[in-house]
Amino acid sequence: ARRPKNKSFAVLGLGRFGGNLVAELHNLGAEVLAIDSNPEKAESFAQYATHTVAANATDERTLANLGIRNFDHVIVSFGEDIQSSVLTTLVLKEMGVKKVWVKAQNSYHQKVLDKIGADHIIHPERDMARRLAHHIISEKILDFIELSEEHSIVEIIATKKINGKSLLDLDIRAKYGCNIVAIKTSDKIKVSPMADEVITTGDVLIVIGSNKDINRFEKEGV
Ligand code: ADP
Repeated sequence: ARRPKNKSFAVLGLGRFGGNLVAELHNLGAEVLAIDSNPEKAESFAQYATHTVAANATDERTLANLGIRNFDHVIVSFGEDIQSSVLTTLVLKEMGVKKVWVKAQNSYHQKVLDKIGADHIIHPERDMARRLAHHIISEKILDFIELSEEHSIVEIIATKKINGKSLLDLDIRAKYGCNIVAIKTSDKIKVSPMADEVITTGDVLIVIGSNKDINRFEKEGV
């Protein structure tokens, strides 16, 4: 497993998103500072966080006293309160925090965050909704990751249409312009599969390419 121990994280706002983030960073062995203005909320994360603080994260002095500047990643996750989120992001960037991640509530919020120098803007609901939409529109699509506006990595389930065929038989790159980077079978994953690799119904193909090419492959090729 990766060792996150050299990196330090501070999560501001322990709502549904921030709270789950703290718990997962803890599970991965990372050190986390958790801050929430609600003392009971902060206290309830004592088991996960290295350090919990009940404080208003928009307050510059509080952040300075906590040495927030020295954290590698600071995540602002009180999305509901747009004003606080913007103000805190501004303060963190002014203080020189290297990587500021911010949960955005809507596209206006995102625009402002972008202007004031947020390094990464997260839209958990929008992104999860997109992934779910792809999955429920086509039962063949299990998951998808957006690489850019036009490119994605998609997990597509192999139907019986291609059962017993090899990658060479399918010739996906030439026919559809996309590439299979891995094949997940019931018990293992084959990364960078060889051309003679044979596909069985139910295998999961991990495909990379332009959305247009992937769509065509998903509709016609699998
Ligand atoms: P989610 O949608 O992920 O639940 P919320 O915006 O509802 O996110 O999360 C709000 C959390 O952030 C609450 O626990 C709230 O107490 C905390 N919070 C809101 N404003 C501040 C602030 N200025 N400083 C610190 N914590 C805050």
